Amino acid sequence: MINECYYDQYDKKETLRFDSKVVHGAQGCDPITGAVSFPIFQTATFRHRAFGISTGYDYSRLQNPTRQELERTMAILEGGLSAFAFTSGQAANMALFGMLKRGDHVILSDDIYGGTFRIGQEIFTERVGCDFEYVDVSYIQRLEAAIRPETRMIFIETPTNPMMKIADIQAISKIAKSHGILLAVDNTFLTPYFQKPLELGADIVMHSGTKYLCGHNDVVAGIAVVTTQELADHFTMQIKSRGNGLAPMDSWLILRGLKTLCLRMERQSDNAGKVAQWLRQHPKVKKVYYAGFEDHKDYAVSRRQASGFGGMISVELDSKETAMSLLGNVKMILFAESLGGTETLITYPLTQTHESIPADIREKLGINERFVRLSIGIEHVEDIINDLAQAMEQAQ
Ligand SMILES: *Cc1c(COP(=O)(O)O)cnc(C)c1O
Repeated sequence: MINECYYDQYDKKETLRFDSKVVHGAQGCDPITGAVSFPIFQTATFRHRAFGISTGYDYSRLQNPTRQELERTMAILEGGLSAFAFTSGQAANMALFGMLKRGDHVILSDDIYGGTFRIGQEIFTERVGCDFEYVDVSYIQRLEAAIRPETRMIFIETPTNPMMKIADIQAISKIAKSHGILLAVDNTFLTPYFQKPLELGADIVMHSGTKYLCGHNDVVAGIAVVTTQELADHFTMQIKSRGNGLAPMDSWLILRGLKTLCLRMERQSDNAGKVAQWLRQHPKVKKVYYAGFEDHKDYAVSRRQASGFGGMISVELDSKETAMSLLGNVKMILFAESLGGTETLITYPLTQTHESIPADIREKLGINERFVRLSIGIEHVEDIINDLAQAMEQAQ
């Protein structure tokens, strides 16, 4: 069977270090032709040689070898039982929440990604009849106080988007387990290179693969990694019935991006540390939100559960004028949504990523008209700083 042939080395790479696993994937090169680049199986369907004889692949909505290579690679990298690749991070989240039923209560980080908030409100609260509650889970007592008998799931981001709050995954997972609640962690910002939520007790890891995993701003994708067969069966069913599995070409692009994950994360994180320090002393900057500051409220938690701080920085400027000047006058840095790619991007959460969040909640979180978010790229750090400097200087 070809399927078996494809995956005969699947477990033999367990001894490799993370930096090598990202390069060599689950199967890595093609065992049939020796192609070093894993093939893109651009096919909708698979031939059966005879009745009852199957390669293990039937139809690409259900399984496709290129998608499977990505899924198995992600399961290895996050240390999960299995993984699932979706057409977007939001499709992956929809599939996750697809296990909820009327009356279920879900606790989420309070400054969650705007699109996840929208799913919670417009689909699961208004149509399905679930109750999504947003809590500052960087305070464990607040999380504990929110738990009810009908709490089914805790969904957290750490660091959060965009306020860079840190949640203690291990402490939260202990509480979740003691109540029989599933813990899902959106690991988009740090990736398994810096943080492995499953090792810290989470049940499910979610990703917008569009961001650091892809790393080149050229694919939209989502990933879910699970720890149990029951969860795996749920996601298999979601892909099979909703038809939201990632296409072969896009799966291949994520596999290609993954090969340089470690190099990119190191550089982006290093650049971000320097840019954050520089921003902090700038007279037109009011506050810098960055997980790597030693005086960040949960710096100790970050140090314990992650090996790096990532490439994301949020900034509150002194005025709306400075914010507008920055957005309008950057030259190399691109004013665009999204994050995690090789290019430094600047976004305006108020009208872009967090537009779906009601104004009063946004204001309380600190997402105001003076607030911008930076995704630091892999360019030379001096060029990033110089560009920010000249763009801010033009504000009156
Ligand atoms: C971008 C993002 C998402 C949504 O992912 P898409 O791939 O855009 O659908 C979810 N969570 C976080 C933290 C994100 O940054």
